[in-house]
Amino acid sequence: MSDKTIFARIIDREIPADIVYEDDRAMAFRDVAPQAPIHILIIPKKPVDMIENLDDADEALVGHLVLVAKKVAAQEGLTSGYRLVFNNGRDGGQTVFHIHLHLLGGRPLTWPPG
Ligand code: AMP
Repeated sequence: MSDKTIFARIIDREIPADIVYEDDRAMAFRDVAPQAPIHILIIPKKPVDMIENLDDADEALVGHLVLVAKKVAAQEGLTSGYRLVFNNGRDGGQTVFHIHLHLLGGRPLTWPPG
């Protein structure tokens, strides 16, 4: 069995996804279980499992994910705002161990999250 995460398999086109953005370093696709009218995941193509395992050389990559989120939010018409979230680790609610930035929008979002 492959030890690749589901997101690595999406990057390699082994399983389908509704991809809304892609470049040499990142990909964005719609979450299969959306928690808001717009729910998109922005991921690095580099397989990093958790924030803890990012290193200094990844600084630009992480910044790139935020800038991709900005582009995708504009593409999706999210002119009234949106939320960007990294769930990290067990208590953070992370379920897929390939870091990903959630872009949520299309409705007013409450705070604090659950
Ligand atoms: P997290 O809980 O922060 O690790 O988020 C993982 C997210 O990946 C969840 O919101 C899932 O709904 C989403 N997800 C899992 N499998 C897929 C898939 N095949 N395509 C798109 N989104 C997925």
